[in-house]
Amino acid sequence: KESRTMRFQRQHMDPGNFPNNPTYCNVMMKRRHMTQGRCKPVNTFVHEPLVDVQAVCLERNITCKNGQPNCHQSPSSMRVTDCRLTSGSKYPNCAYRTSQKERYIIVACEGNPYVPVHFDAAV
Ligand code: ADP
Repeated sequence: KESRTMRFQRQHMDPGNFPNNPTYCNVMMKRRHMTQGRCKPVNTFVHEPLVDVQAVCLERNITCKNGQPNCHQSPSSMRVTDCRLTSGSKYPNCAYRTSQKERYIIVACEGNPYVPVHFDAAV
């Protein structure tokens, strides 16, 4: 079974690549299996080394959107791509709008080792 941190990496990590094409999300959301059963409505990919994203778990705790205290914000901005389902999109044809951004990321971490398991926000 896929662990929660492997699931995080599948859904949110794409290091060594800062895409500059409008079809990125259509391709990647499908390739990373987020268009099976339903179209995942919003998802963010991070284009920074995995170790740098894992290190965010060492930052001070902040409150997550769901009220849990296990969130952490990156100390510097990171290159991210936001994928948002277009309003006219109908499963199984999941169509996304791709937007590149530089943002501070907020992730939830769990476990021992204490690693990212959920992407909370990009601010
Ligand atoms: P994502 O939220 O990163 O798009 P999922 O919804 O697939 O991805 O998975 C989030 C996982 O992280 C779930 O297993 C959830 O239980 C776990 N998790 C741990 N802490 C939190 C938190 N503070 N907020 C939301 N999910 C959390």
